[in-house]
Amino acid sequence: MAQGGGAKQVKLERESELRIEVGNDAPLKLRLLNGTAEIFGTELPPEIWLTFPPRLKFAVFTWYGATIEMDGSTETDYTADETPNISYVNVHAVLEERRNRAKASPPDDSNSSQPQGPRVIVVGPTDSGKSTLSKMLLSWAAKQGWKPTFVDLDIGQGAITIPGCIAATPIEMPIDPVEGIPLEIPLVYFYGHTTPSNNVDLYKVLVKELAQVIERQFSANAESRAAGMVINTMGWIEGQGYELLLHAIDTFDANVVLVLGQEKLCSMLRDVLKNKPGVDVVKLQRSGGVVSRNAKFRQKSRSHRIREYFYGLANDLSPHSNIANFSDLSVFRIGGGPQAPRSALPIGAEPAADPTRLVPVNINRDLLQTVLAVSFAKDPDQIISSNVAGFIYITDIDLHRKTITYLAPSAGDLPSKYLIAGNLPWLET
Ligand code: ADP
Repeated sequence: MAQGGGAKQVKLERESELRIEVGNDAPLKLRLLNGTAEIFGTELPPEIWLTFPPRLKFAVFTWYGATIEMDGSTETDYTADETPNISYVNVHAVLEERRNRAKASPPDDSNSSQPQGPRVIVVGPTDSGKSTLSKMLLSWAAKQGWKPTFVDLDIGQGAITIPGCIAATPIEMPIDPVEGIPLEIPLVYFYGHTTPSNNVDLYKVLVKELAQVIERQFSANAESRAAGMVINTMGWIEGQGYELLLHAIDTFDANVVLVLGQEKLCSMLRDVLKNKPGVDVVKLQRSGGVVSRNAKFRQKSRSHRIREYFYGLANDLSPHSNIANFSDLSVFRIGGGPQAPRSALPIGAEPAADPTRLVPVNINRDLLQTVLAVSFAKDPDQIISSNVAGFIYITDIDLHRKTITYLAPSAGDLPSKYLIAGNLPWLET
């Protein structure tokens, strides 16, 4: 059903959606001609052409009917009149009620049972539509004037920042369907790998750090506490992946667990959570529009995400190439995982066994073409518990001059000399 170029109009009946995969090579332009429509919870402005980058997969949904015009080529585009969106918006309505209740009840400083908004966690296998549902719930809430916190625990894709991180940010406006979430000041912890099995303990430690910071923010801010949070998780739901889900539910004190398209997972969670009062486990249907992405596609989209961090979505950012002396920077690696090659360790050091031990890394060409995180830590001891300011990409290492050339979003000194290495290679293409 691939479409060639040229403009065409599509009329959408109420409660139906136009599912689109933008072609590989060129962007697609699209606008709302009449009626009302939304992309994953964010309303389209009338008549304004929007440009969607190659490979983006999305749906334009209408509650009451709309006409859409598109111009450009698509890999696929088709209309579907069966969507789970009514059940999703019903969940939203329940969450709204809880937010309003939390806002209305007087704060009680004497104990921890302060009025709470919903703490929603979205779980399910890969490609079940978890990130999409999270975005919808957040955008609908933001449209009503709430500022819910989005927590992204999916290190594989990274909806808030680059892959390999867990992160959180308040959502103050419906999420822009093209630009995504503004990268302004998210709270980011660097895990450094794209699968948790590399270092499960470290993953748990970081989840805990993130949860503690949000907990502190919530106790200082009744508005965000009432708005609550939406937590997106990884698609790893078997074995250790399942343990990590339980760990996240527990650590964030989630009180609404939304399970997408998996009977077995749902009943397992119901079973273990039945003794936890006040936790609702809700099974939701997976949307037929969710597109499965193979390993190669995922790898590609990870690279795009990293590229976007430095260059912007439309090549609209100009990263800065900087040079530093070896002595100006301290690079560390955290814990076990795939062992750092011996050559990356100081002479005589043994690869670490403790999963959260900090291992100093000798600067050498192994770091070439890798992404490092810049820690906010003031002291090496704080590295694991500190969030990161951003990322740099190593483009050259001169062993004679002892200098590192790296790409950073901006010029000037880094906010700290402490860098964390992981396993995030990226070929700048
Ligand atoms: P998960 O988070 O479970 O891995 P996503 O929510 O990221 O899954 O969805 C997978 C892909 O499918 C994404 O590219 C998303 O934009 C796309 N997608 C989700 N729902 C729809 C839909 N209704 N129509 C078209 N594409 C969709």
